[in-house]
Amino acid sequence: MPRINPKWIFPVVLLFVTPLGARERTGVLAPPEVKKAQDQILARLKAGNKHYAQHMTRHRGNPLVMVVSCADAHVPPEAVFNMQPGELFTNRAFGNIVDKVILGSLEYGAEHLGCKVLVVMGHTGCTAVRDAISEYDHPRTEWRSLNLQALDQKIEPAVAEVEDTQNKVKAQTGSSLTGDAFVEAVVKANILSTMRAIREQSPILWNLEQQDLLRIVGCVYHKDTGKVEWIK
Ligand SMILES: [Zn+2]
Repeated sequence: MPRINPKWIFPVVLLFVTPLGARERTGVLAPPEVKKAQDQILARLKAGNKHYAQHMTRHRGNPLVMVVSCADAHVPPEAVFNMQPGELFTNRAFGNIVDKVILGSLEYGAEHLGCKVLVVMGHTGCTAVRDAISEYDHPRTEWRSLNLQALDQKIEPAVAEVEDTQNKVKAQTGSSLTGDAFVEAVVKANILSTMRAIREQSPILWNLEQQDLLRIVGCVYHKDTGKVEWIK
């Protein structure tokens, strides 16, 4: 049997895979102005990095704090806490939720980087929370993306919890939270839900907290004022 030269394997595989991949991408191609916008964005990133590299100061040592926060572009943890690069070990996902991968990252931060504080930060007007509320009120029959469904399922318990509490309040007093006040109540419940998930799903982090080697705290970032409200 003839030996196959390993250096040919990759080009041959590519030859077969590329047309399949190309066919998968059929559909309406983006208009030229989108390509132009993408080029401009990348040019800005490159220019930004050039500036950064010229002015950066070297950072040594381990971070002080781990942060779990929303991916929302208006909630940058380093800026919110006035921290320098190297000081925060930041883990961000839309809706400040945790999954196995993020928990693994936090365990690494606590055990190997020696972080002693873990902050779970939600924020006012969180779109992920708003979406979860509208999904709870009008559940779709079918999800186009299992990934988006998984994200929604992480926030739904907080929505259900606030909905349940507010139903009881309404039964007793005749009124309950609505609109933004309801959203902010879910934002808080979702922060607490993430803190609970960290403790329940990571024995490592739970143990460190039990020994007072790690402090887990929650807070809400108010987008309108820039202030952080610590949850008791
Ligand atoms: Zn958010």
